[in-house]
Amino acid sequence: MTAAPLLPPVATRAHPVWLRVGTLLDGSAGRPQPEANVVYDCDEILFVGIEGRTPPPEILRVGQTSPDFAAPDATLLPGLTDAHAHLFLKGSEIDPVRRAGELRQTPDELLAHARERLASLVRLGLAAVRDAGDRHGVGLALQKLCVQSDRPTMPFVESPGAAIFHRGRYGAFMAGAIEEYPTPRACVEARVAAGAGRIKLIPTGIINFKAGAVTAEPQMTTEELAQLVAAAKSLGRQTFAHASGDTGIARALESGVDSVEHGYFLRNDQLTLMRDRQTAWVPTFAPVQAQLDHAAMLGWDVATKDNLQRILAAHAASLRLAHMLGVIIVAGSDAGSCGVPHGFGLLRELELMERAGLPPLTVIHAATGAGAVRFGYREKFGRIAPGWRSRFMLTRHSPLATVANLRQSRTIVFDGMVFSAGQNEDSTGL
Ligand SMILES: [Zn+2]
Repeated sequence: MTAAPLLPPVATRAHPVWLRVGTLLDGSAGRPQPEANVVYDCDEILFVGIEGRTPPPEILRVGQTSPDFAAPDATLLPGLTDAHAHLFLKGSEIDPVRRAGELRQTPDELLAHARERLASLVRLGLAAVRDAGDRHGVGLALQKLCVQSDRPTMPFVESPGAAIFHRGRYGAFMAGAIEEYPTPRACVEARVAAGAGRIKLIPTGIINFKAGAVTAEPQMTTEELAQLVAAAKSLGRQTFAHASGDTGIARALESGVDSVEHGYFLRNDQLTLMRDRQTAWVPTFAPVQAQLDHAAMLGWDVATKDNLQRILAAHAASLRLAHMLGVIIVAGSDAGSCGVPHGFGLLRELELMERAGLPPLTVIHAATGAGAVRFGYREKFGRIAPGWRSRFMLTRHSPLATVANLRQSRTIVFDGMVFSAGQNEDSTGL
């Protein structure tokens, strides 16, 4: 006998839905909650009761005494947030020539494709995307669209607009040069004026896979970073820093950035500092793993593959230590990077975090409530608690057994609407 499909009714403002589930993962760091009752409309969650506590009659339909839908064998968890993605880039593309061709599109074409990409993430269970920068205004346009009152059905987007880098250094495809402005402060002011929800900084280069190290000197000094961070703070914006290599990471930490993105080759003492300063870490395993997965196509030799393996193993060890120390860990896939499709890339990232040694519940927290709380987004998603948006996933394949179960058949509730997601979806175009 097959179990009945997990299909709660659609919730509207006039008709809230009362859902009863066997297990609730509320997006906090706390333990799973048994026998939960959740009431929500299309805007927000109205009530959460655990251990069988039922909702008060005033939020239910007149005379309603039982749930609209009960799934005692299912787990309910918040919709996921990808805290590091580049929506203007198609991550499923691996071929270097075709990737370069993608970037020759006009800003309008890039935006049209990104918009399609973003809309399709709803059905994969994504509630939100924190874009990590593009210089074509794609992220800013999507950010604007998703806060309109008559918004299309798409995840929340926050964008920094163009990241900030030094002319001639790494990052030209997604950043604008600090040299265009008389002072670091003027550069940050321009980003905020353009609509940036957060300021993205590029203090370092990237890993030289052939050498197995970050070989370029950091592109920003501590002083310069501190000025950028101070300017952002005074304008009410958090900062996030692309940083790999311990010298550049040290500078980013010293300057007081809110999060370190990537963080390859960070030192153990730097993790302690991050814990003490509440600096979040978005480790982005997926883009480096993708280099290994597609090594043949990318032309990597045996020595480079060894480097990739060694780098990933060291990164996994850092993640385990970060968890032990109590560093705020947030999941981000770097989707849009070579071989990291949007949506699926995040699911892959979660699997890689689990493989590195994080417990599944911690991985789920990293993709839901951890970022929601630390990053202070304009909207409330990533938790299942009163006042938070009605965006969640319902599944009979417990993600507490393995987060890989998030690929199995599941039901997505998005602002009260209901979608079924299968197992064999296609990542082409994402
Ligand atoms: Zn990135």
